[in-house]
Amino acid sequence: MQMMVAFSLDCMLIVITGPSGVGKGTLVKQLLERHDELWLSVSATTRSPRDGEIEGEHYFFLERKKFNELIQNAGFLEWAQFAGNCYGTPRKEILEKLENGKSVLLEIELEGARQVRKTFPNAFQIFLAPPNFEELEKRIRGRGTDTEDAIQRRLLRAKEELKAVNEFDAVVVNDDLEKALLRLEKEIGLKN
Ligand code: ADP
Ligand code: 5GP
Repeated sequence: MQMMVAFSLDCMLIVITGPSGVGKGTLVKQLLERHDELWLSVSATTRSPRDGEIEGEHYFFLERKKFNELIQNAGFLEWAQFAGNCYGTPRKEILEKLENGKSVLLEIELEGARQVRKTFPNAFQIFLAPPNFEELEKRIRGRGTDTEDAIQRRLLRAKEELKAVNEFDAVVVNDDLEKALLRLEKEIGLKN
């Protein structure tokens, strides 16, 4: 059972969720380049690194045993399984950043967003949606990072995730990248 966080720092916690391939990573990278006041939490995962992914920058890549230990020791703010791998948000650093007045971004999948909604009810949760399902599939394939099996799992999961849009505080459609970036900035309340 998760404890609700009692202090009011959660107003600076921003969650971005959306199906794999929608463009979360692309947009978050641009947000970070444009806004020093934002801090992105680096997640832990049991998935293998993709080409070009750097330990501690894109993820902390962990063996399942180590990931389980962190679960046991309450090391995660939330964690979930996704397409055959585990992903989790390290707890300690986020609380430190929030206490120091940083706005913290979490780029996580649906089950994690639901957990955060319970522990941080005032966090602002944004769902990033594709213009349509065909475009989503095109983007996942076009990225060229996943096996056919991983693509199929992600597309199957995407169908479930897309049903959850109404749970979110805001929905941003990532059709034109620049427009989506501006919408995200507006929703979060960032100044250009
Ligand atoms: P996610 O992090 O949600 O899995 P990515 O950021 O990796 O998605 O984006 C998936 C692919 O889609 C990448 O190749 C990226 O360049 C491309 N992409 C992102 N946004 C757009 C967009 N608005 N229009 C066209 N392609 C996009
Ligand atoms: P990918 O394998 O494409 O990097 O990520 C797969 C999914 O896991 C994406 O939807 C991403 O947002 C999500 N994810 C990344 N880190 C975390 C995390 O710490 N917790 C949860 N719940 N999901 C995460």
